[in-house]
Amino acid sequence: MSESTLQERYREVMGRVAELTPPGHEVTTVVVTKFHPVEVNRELYELGQRDFGESRHQEARLKVDDPAMPDAVWHFIGQLQSNKARQVARYASYIHSLDRSSLLKALTGLDRPEPLGVFIEVNLTDDPGRGGLDPAALEGFAERVLATDGLRLMGVMGVPGVGDDPARAFERLRGYSELVTRLDARSRYISAGMSQDWPQALAMGATHLRIGTSITGKRAY
Ligand SMILES: *Cc1c(COP(=O)(O)O)cnc(C)c1O
Repeated sequence: MSESTLQERYREVMGRVAELTPPGHEVTTVVVTKFHPVEVNRELYELGQRDFGESRHQEARLKVDDPAMPDAVWHFIGQLQSNKARQVARYASYIHSLDRSSLLKALTGLDRPEPLGVFIEVNLTDDPGRGGLDPAALEGFAERVLATDGLRLMGVMGVPGVGDDPARAFERLRGYSELVTRLDARSRYISAGMSQDWPQALAMGATHLRIGTSITGKRAY
């Protein structure tokens, strides 16, 4: 038995996403290629993929100028240090991990032809030590993002805690999405769902799935 190829895994996952997406629901599958060489991005690009997720600036910056992928769309999905934020904003179309004031400050006054799309990452666990904004601060923070020139508030992002029931975590996230949507109906997007839990995220209304290993295979750390 030979192992499955990247192309087979990609087609299979994209086929399942299409099958499970309700009619009229708009979904973007971001293929997470962190820790994989740029050849993986190129192969996926040739198969028609445009949206790529990266989580380390050092790695992403080497991929984004690849001449073989002129209209790739780069999503920054990982923990972002404030002192790297403006560099990331030069190539990323979206940042999914906006989770604190210092990062918002660093992203203020960007000089870009198009606004930078940002998702507010909300902590879905009861552990304040986890990444993501404290949900109690969400409304005020979202108002500040909406008032920041150069940014477009897409909506919310969340990652279920280890061992938590993803469906319940996504239910919380949907509640946070409703709160943000009341401030601005355009900020209706929800970034949720990874290889193990994207069907539950999609069922809850996720619009941006971030799928890595089930397409790319294991990452070599
Ligand atoms: C790595 C990562 C993913 C992809 O995870 P897989 O389990 O490989 O699908 C999605 N979102 C974030 C924030 C990640 O860091």
